[in-house]
Amino acid sequence: MLLSITTTYEPATDLGYLLHKNPFVCQTTELPFGTVNTFFPVATKEKCTAAILLDIDPIELVRRKKRQDTSMPLEQYVNDRPYVCSSFMSVAFSQVFAQTLNGRCKKRPELVSTVMPLTCKIAVLPCRGGEGLLRRLFGPLGYTVTAEKHILDDKFPEWGNSAYFTVEISNDTTVSELFNHLYVLIPVLDNQKHYYIDKAEIEKLLKRGEGWLPTHPEKEQIVRRYLKFKTSYAREALSRLIDLNPAEQEEEGTDESCEDDIEKSLNLNEDRLGAVISALKAANAKTILDLGCGEGKLLRLLLKDTYFKKILGMDVSIRSLEIAAERLNLEDLPPKQRERIELIHSSLMYRDRRFEGYDAAAVVEVIEHLDEPRLKAFERVLFEFAKPGMVVLTTPNREYNVRWENVGTAKLRNKDHRFEWTRAEFSEWAQRVAEQFGYVTRFLPVGTLDSEVGCPTQMCIFTRNVSSFKDAGQISWK
Ligand code: SAH
Repeated sequence: MLLSITTTYEPATDLGYLLHKNPFVCQTTELPFGTVNTFFPVATKEKCTAAILLDIDPIELVRRKKRQDTSMPLEQYVNDRPYVCSSFMSVAFSQVFAQTLNGRCKKRPELVSTVMPLTCKIAVLPCRGGEGLLRRLFGPLGYTVTAEKHILDDKFPEWGNSAYFTVEISNDTTVSELFNHLYVLIPVLDNQKHYYIDKAEIEKLLKRGEGWLPTHPEKEQIVRRYLKFKTSYAREALSRLIDLNPAEQEEEGTDESCEDDIEKSLNLNEDRLGAVISALKAANAKTILDLGCGEGKLLRLLLKDTYFKKILGMDVSIRSLEIAAERLNLEDLPPKQRERIELIHSSLMYRDRRFEGYDAAAVVEVIEHLDEPRLKAFERVLFEFAKPGMVVLTTPNREYNVRWENVGTAKLRNKDHRFEWTRAEFSEWAQRVAEQFGYVTRFLPVGTLDSEVGCPTQMCIFTRNVSSFKDAGQISWK
């Protein structure tokens, strides 16, 4: 497994200081799973290349494995691990180049923050998710990416391409940054890890992702893959990343207040929450989920009204939940009131059994914050698994934006919105979802009606189509 790093920064041999390796000496480090050889095939003033050759001992890997998978007995001997760049390389980085990763250079500290032209070449990188994912991961960090595909077996071209690529990425950056990017993104692309994932991995990810991961457009995917799809860990990491992103917080702050200002002039928020409460009551819904509850505007109204017996507020942002808890004065509520409400940290992207068994779910101004390609996951989480008796969902009507001078047609109402739908788009989506998961829809406009562009907010009430369920008689909310 070979990875090389080249710079043309002058004097290029300064790379040796940053890697804590003498460019004129070949160095070998023994690790539990193999050997790391570091050497410099080129070391001149104009150009310096450091090569990191990780020689994995396949027999040692088998010996170290506690549980053997007996379904494929040969797999432990015949696999790609010795030949590809994987989480073994990340571990090698942390063992052999810990100082580089941590941005330390005792002899030449000024070099740590020196931006230099760097090219990293990886002989074989498994990209499970294809070349597109490779580009989506490194592109936003400023890298130019070259990828050469390899076919699965040249004797059988009809089998097509493999997941393996020879990859070259180039960028003007610091060596420490490059190492941190590689440390996280190599195992993300490989989508396998050779060791058990525990909670400490969240800390490692946040440490290595500092300064770039909170704003990376693929952060959700990176987090999920890095943490090997351990849902509760991914949730925690994502929420901490959101809280770590000052830009997002600022944008949210200024933008939400701008959205709030626009909406205040129309009393839109009041109208919206009023419409949601009316819809819930009209359906006799008494146990309510508030998904993406934010700072708890709807929760406050639900709690005030003793008609509602049980309320569960959920959000992916711990910060928002803390604000909600404070605004609702949860700690000082009388016990009877306190019993009616609970706040939980979760995500609409993952199935959560705690969402099950409710009369209704409110999803107020939330879906436009989700990445459009990930709406499918949300649909299943809510309509297939949680399946409340009804769902009251609101989202902006994009057509109305032209009525606001500072929004117009091009912009969205809030920078954190991933999309805003026209009435036709919303209706098409809602009807498709309803049909797929056994619900019927009713659309209600919210706010002052404009004959041309409709209302500022659109609302859909999804009601579970009881006739399509065998257990119709057991649904208690009707
Ligand atoms: N419903 C609230 C807040 C709307 S703002 C209100 O009407 O005031 C959107 C909220 O959705 C934010 O609080 C945000 O943290 C939350 N959110 C965004 N993505 C989410 C996800 N994947 N899971 C749960 N909540 C999410």
